[in-house]
Amino acid sequence: EARARGAGTVVVFTPELREAAQHRTMMETELRAGVTEASDQIVLHYQPVVDLTTGQVVAVEALARWHHPVLGEVPPSQFIALAERMGLIRQLGDWVLDQAIQDAGALTHEGRELDIAVNFSVLQLDKRTVSTVQEALARAGIRPGRLMIEVTESALVQDEDVVVRTLEALADLGVRVAIDDFGTGYSSLHSLRRYPIDTIKIDREFVAGIGRLVDDEAICTSVVHLASSVNATTIVEGVETVEQYAFLRAIGCHQGQGYLWSAPVPLERLPEAIASCERVPPPSVAPRRARI
Ligand code: C2E
Ligand code: MG
Ligand code: MG
Ligand code: MG
Repeated sequence: EARARGAGTVVVFTPELREAAQHRTMMETELRAGVTEASDQIVLHYQPVVDLTTGQVVAVEALARWHHPVLGEVPPSQFIALAERMGLIRQLGDWVLDQAIQDAGALTHEGRELDIAVNFSVLQLDKRTVSTVQEALARAGIRPGRLMIEVTESALVQDEDVVVRTLEALADLGVRVAIDDFGTGYSSLHSLRRYPIDTIKIDREFVAGIGRLVDDEAICTSVVHLASSVNATTIVEGVETVEQYAFLRAIGCHQGQGYLWSAPVPLERLPEAIASCERVPPPSVAPRRARI
């Protein structure tokens, strides 16, 4: 650690630094165990995705959760990044994909099949990915069109050929590709041209300002128009209020997720969560716009 900073630099190894280093080592050991052993510490929760016009649930997004007996709930923003740095993301990602597809295979709601969205790290996209996905779908007897792979916009910045080719091969299979957290990276327009994007997920950052900030409203509206001009579906994340729902529905956004309908829940609570989502009535009145 101290040496890594280069010759001539003096690093005093304070108790705080030592503690931080110990904590990091402990996290790494624990994550490796959580991923490689059948420890049941890592589980999937599912968040319903609602069609904004009909109010019906059309899909679920799988979100990984790590419950550690001592560390407690470690958020995915931390452990996914750690798994990437440790070279564990492939193993974790394969498990997530398999589990999500198996769970979703058994999922119907009022006789309808639900689609399943799975988050992928860009490090999972290489020449083995297509067969991994095909095999997972075949094992569960799921057609490729029911699977959507979400990759965050910021991860696509690196713009590697292998990533483009892999996403194209997946799209050729019929798997849908979504660009997640759209608008938060630095390459939104470039990504749209470069990758076979079926769906754009508008980041919740922009949703939060609806009703308060004209700029955020304008951004949501522009993204929906942009998406429709490239024939992409739009899904909005982080919808928490009826006002946001009304606005997004009025501007033609297709689908939404958020605490207004349901937080991500364990599989066993999903049927109840889906039913409660569908009790939220689609708003009929035109929303009031934010004022300058
Ligand atoms: P994401 O894919 O953009 O997922 C949306 C995040 O927003 C989730 O956070 C979800 O719990 C949260 N959320 C949903 N509705 C609301 C709402 O109404 N309000 C607010 N404030 N938040 C809401 P979560 O579960 O903590 O996941 C964070 C990120 O971690 C995900 O963002 C995704 O990028 C990543 N992630 C989670 N699971 C996996 C996984 O299995 N593999 C990979 N590669 N990444 C994952
Ligand atoms: Mg996502
Ligand atoms: Mg997102
Ligand atoms: Mg996000």
